[in-house]
Amino acid sequence: MKRLIERLVAAGNAYVAEEHVLFHVPSMPDYGQLSKRPLDELIAGARVDVAPYKRNPMDFVLWKPSKPGEPAWPSPAGVTTPGRPGWHIECSAMAWRHLGETFDIHGGGIDLEFPHHENEIAQSRSAFHTRLMARFWVHNGFLQLEGEKMAKSVGNVVRIRELLADWPGEVLRLNMLKTHYHQPMDWTVRGLEESAKTLDDWYEFAATTAGKRPGSAVLEALLDDLNTPRAIAELHGLRSLAHGGDALALDELAASLRFIGLLRSTTDEWRTRKQAAKGVDPAEVERLIAARAQARKAKDFAEADRIRDELAGRGVALKDSKDGTTWEVAR
Ligand SMILES: [Zn+2]
Repeated sequence: MKRLIERLVAAGNAYVAEEHVLFHVPSMPDYGQLSKRPLDELIAGARVDVAPYKRNPMDFVLWKPSKPGEPAWPSPAGVTTPGRPGWHIECSAMAWRHLGETFDIHGGGIDLEFPHHENEIAQSRSAFHTRLMARFWVHNGFLQLEGEKMAKSVGNVVRIRELLADWPGEVLRLNMLKTHYHQPMDWTVRGLEESAKTLDDWYEFAATTAGKRPGSAVLEALLDDLNTPRAIAELHGLRSLAHGGDALALDELAASLRFIGLLRSTTDEWRTRKQAAKGVDPAEVERLIAARAQARKAKDFAEADRIRDELAGRGVALKDSKDGTTWEVAR
């Protein structure tokens, strides 16, 4: 961070004033491109109550003196007392160290676009004399939980690790992909249940098909700013075509699902995990089904019904046909 700050001062993009180092925004004529806020509008709208050491109201802090009791580090050249970094500089420093002067994708919450990301860009581009900091900026919408903003202060934070105790990772993945990344996402148990049901169906229907090439409509949707809800709609379209006997649609469905990171298990592994998650022991189920068949043979229908109800209570649904009894775990 200190090296970056010293570079910016040497290049004339930053200055030292009253033990602060400030980035001089007018030194970068195309500042504001990311959030599409022209510099002159920003300057005109800047607050009246501006710190006296700023040359321009838009100038932002790269380094500042620590208040008593705050952590402090040796300051960049030109500042005598120990201090601490401003809000934006660490991101430019981390990106430089780990990704280089220019890199591919920068993510972040939509609320960080301005001023945080705009200022990161100003720092990095000015320090390295580059046209770009990141080639793509991917801003995600807010995450809501059952219709309410998810926030530490509200106490309704759900962690991925906790969710993985109850749901396969693919259910979480599909559930997230149902919302475009740029839109607000409402995370609900109901949504998770629907995603799990959808995956159950895809596993039963498509997981044994190898799949050569993803469907072109699915790829087109993804190429359109990662429009995952549209891609999923295309998957449902392929599913109904395949149901009607279209072999190419089935192939494309299987390949597309794998392409977006689903169907990573076999159908058997998927079923077994679902059974285990529901606490169902397949051997025990088979034993009860055999006992029920015995009871029916002996015309003890009360006992047969009791066994069926007991299994239903454990989430196991039976299906009788002329070939015998099959079962599955209900969601
Ligand atoms: Zn950042």
